[in-house]
Amino acid sequence: MERIVMKFGGTSVANPERIARAAQLVVEEVNRGKQVAVIVSAMGKTTDELLSLAQEVNPTAGRRELDMLLATGEQVTASLLAMAITAKGVEARSYTGWQAGVTTESVHGNARIEQVQADRIVSALETGAVTVITGFQGADASGELTTLGRGGSDTSAVAIAIALDAAVCDIYTDVEGVFTTDPRLIEKARKLEEISYDEMLEIANLGAGVLHPRAVEFAKNHLMPLRVRPAHMDGQGTVIKEEIDLENNLVVRGIAFERDVVRITVMYDVPYNGSLANIFTALAKHHVNVDIIVQTIREDVQPSVSFSIKKEDFAEAINVLESNKEELGYSRADFEVGLAKVSIVGSGMVSNPGVAANMFDILRQAVIPVKMVSTSEIKVSVVIPEPEMEKAVTALHEQFGLDVTGAK
Ligand code: ASP
Ligand code: MG
Repeated sequence: MERIVMKFGGTSVANPERIARAAQLVVEEVNRGKQVAVIVSAMGKTTDELLSLAQEVNPTAGRRELDMLLATGEQVTASLLAMAITAKGVEARSYTGWQAGVTTESVHGNARIEQVQADRIVSALETGAVTVITGFQGADASGELTTLGRGGSDTSAVAIAIALDAAVCDIYTDVEGVFTTDPRLIEKARKLEEISYDEMLEIANLGAGVLHPRAVEFAKNHLMPLRVRPAHMDGQGTVIKEEIDLENNLVVRGIAFERDVVRITVMYDVPYNGSLANIFTALAKHHVNVDIIVQTIREDVQPSVSFSIKKEDFAEAINVLESNKEELGYSRADFEVGLAKVSIVGSGMVSNPGVAANMFDILRQAVIPVKMVSTSEIKVSVVIPEPEMEKAVTALHEQFGLDVTGAK
């Protein structure tokens, strides 16, 4: 009998009607002869609400108690969904992450899954019952409850799918699938039929929040096919897997963007070999996440290091630089706010030279200045002024053949 995993995100189980709709989707799969393990998120904004409750009671509450609290969100959904499935005449049982055998490292708030001992779930599935398992949580070796970090129930779903040797891990959500870019910004964004793990990983890491990056990584390492599907409507969604046909020979499959980027430039009077190590060690110590780094060391220009960060880290970065000025040995620091990062992603780039050149040419024609560049095998990112971001994405989306009209 084919086994599948169905995961429902918070918006797809936000109220009793949506829980009933999720139950209906589960029952349909059971009627198709599948063994079904369901993974759930907390209802709607429950996790945020629990966090603000904790904040009111004790703003400095420890991570252990926060985990105990947050783990309840998913339990509510799991039991309600099991009831809703049972109400439709199909036997269903809910389980906590711990009961389902999800063992994590011994860290509160952001634990990684170490192992899934799925015997109990397998036995339940073999009796014909649907199992509904809380996402986002497990227990460490000593039985302490742990949570996996925000958005972590995607990772639960993939890890459990792997342990169950499921045929596919379906992630039901409130979007139609994975798009070429955010359809809220670009009207002509197109839903993709397929995307590779690597492309999805780049897009997820660039902050297109459809799937948790760790979940994609896990799926890639175990070649577990993933599918992002809409819970609120019919539709096959987007399949994420290893090898895909190049849809219409597109070299670029998606465009991601990020607002609120800041560029900081640190200048030196004389070239100094330790500058990179020193600056980035100091920033890392204060948990400032650095993205693109550009160093300039040439005889005829002032030596400098530029790097980009998110606006939320700006104050801390400046603080680190200023309070360590002497140690870091620089003469002057400068910054530029109001920037954005735009990235083109596609596996086809590996074997197609000139994609970056194409991108720069499109931006030049649109008269958009490029402040920083970074590339990987399947991605080119540029930092540009934020007011130009929409124009840049629109132009790139059209020129790389991604627009919905030109597609089919
Ligand atoms: N409920 C958790 C969160 O809101 C986990 C998840 O939904 O993936 O982050
Ligand atoms: Mg999510």
